[in-house]
Amino acid sequence: MASPVAHSLAGAVIYFALSHKRTFNAKEFWLVILAANVADFDLLAGLLIGNAEAFHRTISHSFLGTFVVALLFSACLWAKDETNIPRLYVMIILALTSQLLIDWVSYDDSVPRGIPLLLPWSPEHYMSKTQLFLHVRRDHLLTMPVILHNLKAVSREMLILGPVALLACWVAGIRRPQKQGA
Ligand SMILES: [Zn+2]
Repeated sequence: MASPVAHSLAGAVIYFALSHKRTFNAKEFWLVILAANVADFDLLAGLLIGNAEAFHRTISHSFLGTFVVALLFSACLWAKDETNIPRLYVMIILALTSQLLIDWVSYDDSVPRGIPLLLPWSPEHYMSKTQLFLHVRRDHLLTMPVILHNLKAVSREMLILGPVALLACWVAGIRRPQKQGA
């Protein structure tokens, strides 16, 4: 599965693509980045019981899980009474979905390979035949072979998605926020 770098860059692409000629809004930007990564917080849930992989790539990486998290985000937005809610909501839905898309096109060397998109109705896992991204390893994390492998994986993600994010930012023509008192 891909690293948070790939998911964050996908979130950035989504934010820029839907912010044409707008002033950069750090709060919205980071909310979209959070949405692009939130499914992988299942690793943190696993850490609580001493096994990071215990809940990883389960319901959080399914359409149903994504839908439930989208409902939670919408409840938070509603409670906050944010302006621009429809646009922000669309960005969050796309960011949540991008997690599934990025993981689907990522190589997975664990079994079963891929993500269980149709849980709880089907346990089948799905992985694209074409894998753009490498599997980020979390076993023996501080050993040289794993460090080198993960560096290679993250470099590949940056090489593929970095230019897309920069292009999206440039095309969007995002304005810098005015400094207070300027
Ligand atoms: Zn994931």
